[in-house]
Amino acid sequence: MAERILIVEDEENIARVLQLELEFEGYEAGVAHAGDEGLIKFRGGGWDLVLLDLMLPGLSGLDVLRRIRASDKAVPVILLTAKNEVEDKVAGLDLGANDYVTKPFEIEELLARIRATLRVAKALAAPKEETPEHIHSFAGLTMNEETRDVTRDGRSIDLTPREYDLLLYLLKHPNRVFEREQLLDAVWGFDYYGDTNVVDVYVRYVRKKIGEGLIHTVRGVGYVLKEAPK
Ligand code: CA
Repeated sequence: MAERILIVEDEENIARVLQLELEFEGYEAGVAHAGDEGLIKFRGGGWDLVLLDLMLPGLSGLDVLRRIRASDKAVPVILLTAKNEVEDKVAGLDLGANDYVTKPFEIEELLARIRATLRVAKALAAPKEETPEHIHSFAGLTMNEETRDVTRDGRSIDLTPREYDLLLYLLKHPNRVFEREQLLDAVWGFDYYGDTNVVDVYVRYVRKKIGEGLIHTVRGVGYVLKEAPK
């Protein structure tokens, strides 16, 4: 869906050019030529960004901004200011405008600022992605402890229970070097009476299934799960 930009600008030529340029860029653009009209259109809702001239008939740009911010802290607002409006520009930023461009401006600069402002607004609005505790990921390898799904780079991997336990243990401690005895204790249990060779055997099985470059042999010590050096 096209992003919707409201242009509040009393100079009709500028408003018209902005509207055409924005529509050419794939935005949906609405225009208001006075402050009060702009506020009414804004309250009509559904705007992703507001381009707001400061010197406007009706309500001033700052008044419009103040009223927008009273009800909507999030919608991005870019001020269109004149060179001699430094104080108003500062006041506008203090009132919660996101950015400004000074007239006369290059349309390319304004478009870049619109894109950047929309990007930031979107990132702020997006729900934070938190990896649930039962999902472990490293270097393209993902293990889900609830479903016991194992994937590497999206490819599903079928492990035996022991292989799964071994890989999960390594995955929970990436970049940490383990001695064979440590892995034996952690995965097979302290009461397992066996040779540490079993660790080597299982590491080999797991490597064969998940592919190379993840479980590394540390000569004379044991194993580490880490990313292959580039
Ligand atoms: Ca004006």
